[in-house]
Amino acid sequence: MLPVEENVSPSNLPPRQSTNARRAPWRRAVAALAVLSTALLAVWIVSAWARTRAVAQLAESSHHVLSLVAETLRGELAKHESTPFLISQNPRITRILTGSPPSDAEIQTANEDLERLARVTDASDLYLMNTTGTTIAASNWSDPRSFIGENFSYRPYFTEAMKGRLGRYFALGTTSGERGYYFAHPVFDGRYVVGVAVVKLRVGDLEAAWRAVDHTILVVDDDGVIFLSSEPGWVMRTMKPLDPEARARISQQRRYGAAEISPLGLDHRTVTEIGHAVIALAPPPASPSAKPASYLVQQRAMPDAGWTIQILSRMDGVATAVNTAAALTLATLAALLLAASNIYLRRRRLADRMALQRSITAELERRVAERTDELTQINVRLEGEVAERKRAEMELRHTQGELIQASKLAALGQMSAGLSHELNQPLAAIRSYAENARAFLDRERFETVRTNLGAIDELTQRMASIIRHLRTYARKEPTTVRPTSVNRAIDESLGLLQRRIADDDATITIETPDHEVLAIAGDVRLQQVLVNLIANALDAMRTTPRRDVAISVTETTDWVTIAVKDTGPGIAPGDLGNVFDPFFTTKDVGAGLGLGLSITYGIVQQFGGNISASNAPGGGAEFVVTLKAAAVPIESAA
Ligand code: ADP
Repeated sequence: MLPVEENVSPSNLPPRQSTNARRAPWRRAVAALAVLSTALLAVWIVSAWARTRAVAQLAESSHHVLSLVAETLRGELAKHESTPFLISQNPRITRILTGSPPSDAEIQTANEDLERLARVTDASDLYLMNTTGTTIAASNWSDPRSFIGENFSYRPYFTEAMKGRLGRYFALGTTSGERGYYFAHPVFDGRYVVGVAVVKLRVGDLEAAWRAVDHTILVVDDDGVIFLSSEPGWVMRTMKPLDPEARARISQQRRYGAAEISPLGLDHRTVTEIGHAVIALAPPPASPSAKPASYLVQQRAMPDAGWTIQILSRMDGVATAVNTAAALTLATLAALLLAASNIYLRRRRLADRMALQRSITAELERRVAERTDELTQINVRLEGEVAERKRAEMELRHTQGELIQASKLAALGQMSAGLSHELNQPLAAIRSYAENARAFLDRERFETVRTNLGAIDELTQRMASIIRHLRTYARKEPTTVRPTSVNRAIDESLGLLQRRIADDDATITIETPDHEVLAIAGDVRLQQVLVNLIANALDAMRTTPRRDVAISVTETTDWVTIAVKDTGPGIAPGDLGNVFDPFFTTKDVGAGLGLGLSITYGIVQQFGGNISASNAPGGGAEFVVTLKAAAVPIESAA
């Protein structure tokens, strides 16, 4: 038997190492490190780029503001720069400086002229000083804190104008305490400077507009003192501590009056970043808990005005941009890593599946090869068995033939008593006819001799016929089949059994179609079949009062049926299934071997026909032989 088919599935394959497990841990660590350092490098590069870009954008925007502030300041100063010159050219005003000492009326006229001019030009104060630096006429003549009588000779703008040049200066007003910008122009009388005309403008008002801007705007003097600022708390303070020399000069010029000039406490850190300085500021004193902020600083010197404009832009936006860029880079890298790992995992799974498929295929091939080997072996074995069977069949056939022949000869033996009687009787008659013939010859009764010889001739013919029957029956027939006359087979078998039939006082009735019936069989073997069946019938009827054997032949297109029915006791129902078995007999020891029907069965099988036994409804046994009908009638050889 072939082994039961096994399924090849991953579960019954030998365990295989996954690709992952095969990979050494150090290789994975190196790969992870490489990915991490690449990611960090990418984040660093992108952050640096984002920082540079954000700083550049901030620098550009604050540069615009710086330019705007510088232009505004320049315009504001320019508006008043020529006012002292105009005063110096006005004889109604300068008259009080020349000639004889002026009268009160003249001074009052000058005061009123200056007051009007101040209103028209929107100047803070206009005043006229004599060569000693004392104010002799002023636009604020009516003010309780009027400059008239005040001496400002310590102011650099005065000394400058006294040298015949335009004096400019910014300072805290000594009387007003307001931050002002001063332009001073000499008043000439011929080639001599006879006095100085001064305009003071209020610059503190500009700060209000700066507060609306999102930057810190400072105007710083050459010593680093903040003169103007959008941050109110930063005014009159310094970026760096003042050195003693500067402090002495400022106090000598009384530039900032009594104001306490203290440093802001800034943490300076100049960073070489696209050419801009970055200052990290300490928290303002007002809110020490506030975080120090970083500023981008840009400045523009205004040498004419004597100050520098600085613009400080908070770097918070830069930090946000850098953080955003870093976060975006990280997110992109994470997404890329995820996608890459996805692709990698999918490819690895595919590779694993293919490897599994390959191993399944290899396993299948191995099993197929194994099975093919087994099948080849089985095939070889089967071929051997087939050859063995063929040989056994040949042997069986041969044995069967031998058996058929032996049983036939045994039957002949059984019939020998009757047959010898059959031959002895005519032989005795022949002898007596011959003796009589000799006697009649002596008596020269030739006619009677002739009659006797004729009788002898007849008797020898009868004997020859009996002997022919015997010879035919005893002949060993080959196992091949051919069309055979059923009628002749019946005649021949009855001829052989003639003596028995007569001895048993049995009646034979034959019913056949009108024509000769041909069936596929063999002469001798069909005869043997009939002899067996008729002899069994005669045996069975030995004790019955009525002894009739009915032989009937019927035919269809395909089949020929020969039925042999007797009037014996029939077959016991329990024996019906056994009668064709070899060595089954119900006869006394020595009376039967139990081979007759088994051999008969074998012969009918050889013919490709069939035989069955039954009990006839009216009593007695009936054997029915069915043979293939022969289509073409062929003269059968005896
Ligand atoms: P044998 O004649 O040597 O017994 P057979 O094979 O010819 O062997 O017959 C087997 C048995 O079948 C017989 O012993 C007998 O019991 C039974 N049998 C055969 N023919 C008949 C028949 N016509 N009537 C009753 N029994 C029969």
